[in-house]
Amino acid sequence: MFVQTCNAFSENTVVVHDGEGGAIVFDPGMSSPAEWAEFEHSLQERGWTPKAVLMTHAHLDHVLGCAGMASRYGLHPQLLAADEPTYGMAPRAAEMYGVPMDPLPDLHPTRLEDGKSIRLGKLVLEVKWTPGHAPGHVVFVDTANQRVIGGDVLFQGSVGRTDLPGGDSDVLAQSIEKVLYALPDSFEVWPGHGPSTTIGQEKRSNPFVNGKGTGMMQVGR
Ligand SMILES: [Zn+2]
Repeated sequence: MFVQTCNAFSENTVVVHDGEGGAIVFDPGMSSPAEWAEFEHSLQERGWTPKAVLMTHAHLDHVLGCAGMASRYGLHPQLLAADEPTYGMAPRAAEMYGVPMDPLPDLHPTRLEDGKSIRLGKLVLEVKWTPGHAPGHVVFVDTANQRVIGGDVLFQGSVGRTDLPGGDSDVLAQSIEKVLYALPDSFEVWPGHGPSTTIGQEKRSNPFVNGKGTGMMQVGR
């Protein structure tokens, strides 16, 4: 796998090999000719061909490369239905932030579904709904490789912001505790911003939501 940090928001575009020469691209954020050149170079040196575009959610910083993935590779983004309104709002968000964005492509006709597994080449990814940062946010659990493509839910020492439309801090804390902290400590989390971390490290030290029930954002019980 490799991660390319893209656009004005330092968004992590995560690319995972499918074991058969294919590349699965999560949250394509490429937004300039230089970022597209870097992306294509990274694929070429590995001999990988993009096979699918999967979205953790559809905030502006995560969709900036969607038009290019459709025009260059014919790949349309797969999203949870609950995040379609977020996708629809991205062009307005781009205007608000003054970020140029090509018109977004149609979504892939197949929606992601909570609890369903996707098989791509040799890769098996379990889709888990993790609302709180965005209403239709999901994470992708790759059990065989002990890793999670996590989007903007759990960061190293932090959590996703909850002040955007559809955000809710209690719901986010529940998503982290019920979905992410239910995974083995050894699993590595590849988030939408910043460095990777592990479930165990965040359970021990994340100041927002920790495994002991003392985090600032701890779910009320
Ligand atoms: Zn986001």
